[in-house]
Amino acid sequence: PPVIRLESVQKSFALPNGEVFDAVRSLSLEIPEGEVFGLIGKSGAGKSTLLRLINLLERPDAGKVFVGGRDLTTLSRRELRDTRQNIGMIFQQFNLLQNATVFDNVAFPLRIHGRHSRAEIDARVRECLELVGLGEKSYSYPAQLSGGQKQRVAIARALAPRPQVLLCDEPTSALDSETTRALLETLRDINQKIGVTIVIVTHELSVVEVLCRQVAILELGRLIEQFAVDAAPSAE
Ligand code: ADP
Ligand code: ADP
Repeated sequence: PPVIRLESVQKSFALPNGEVFDAVRSLSLEIPEGEVFGLIGKSGAGKSTLLRLINLLERPDAGKVFVGGRDLTTLSRRELRDTRQNIGMIFQQFNLLQNATVFDNVAFPLRIHGRHSRAEIDARVRECLELVGLGEKSYSYPAQLSGGQKQRVAIARALAPRPQVLLCDEPTSALDSETTRALLETLRDINQKIGVTIVIVTHELSVVEVLCRQVAILELGRLIEQFAVDAAPSAE
């Protein structure tokens, strides 16, 4: 079964002038487990809104949102909190805690959840920092890191709860092209190593071409096209 399934999802916003704007229009989408899925579209197409619907940061006005087989729109607050552990997210601006070390940033979602022993947190943080190539930086503060390193910390933090799904909202838009390339390679490595399903939203076709196996184009809140990107030669 797909790890993410949207069924006729609708999301509208009331504008200050009293009009209603349909940001996502009767949109259906299935993403299989382990996929690297790109969503591209112009500014205002509804990309962020779509990711926020998958994370239930926004509630749909109509339709269903399934992640890991559960319809998120029917969950209680408590069930939703548990289910959110299954969905990691990273952002253009990294959103790190500035006054916390790299270690504490990555440990943060585990401590909040309150179900992990100190030894388990320690092991998971180390494991996730290794995965993003920052094993040596755990005592640094975000201000001491480059943009690419900050985004790697954000990825480690998102992966710490061991989610099935990693949502990436314009993750390379604040990075130069060389740093972007390295970060995309890291995301692809992570997908191959731990099998986490990656959904990445961007306005840059070059980003999804490098990383993704499936790409969908969003325009005015609708999916207008979906296609497979030719796989890079693999060493099978
Ligand atoms: P994208 O990520 O593709 O740039 P967004 O999902 O951010 O698009 O936005 C799609 C449309 O929905 C935009 O026109 C935006 O102004 C509108 N929108 C998004 N969030 C809100 C909100 N909270 N209130 C009002 N309008 C919103
Ligand atoms: P204590 O000394 O009280 O037993 P720890 O040594 O386990 O506690 O951790 C104290 C604090 O040090 C933690 O809250 C965390 O902020 C930080 N910390 C622990 N391990 C690491 C690490 N590998 N890298 C960076 N900071 C760490």
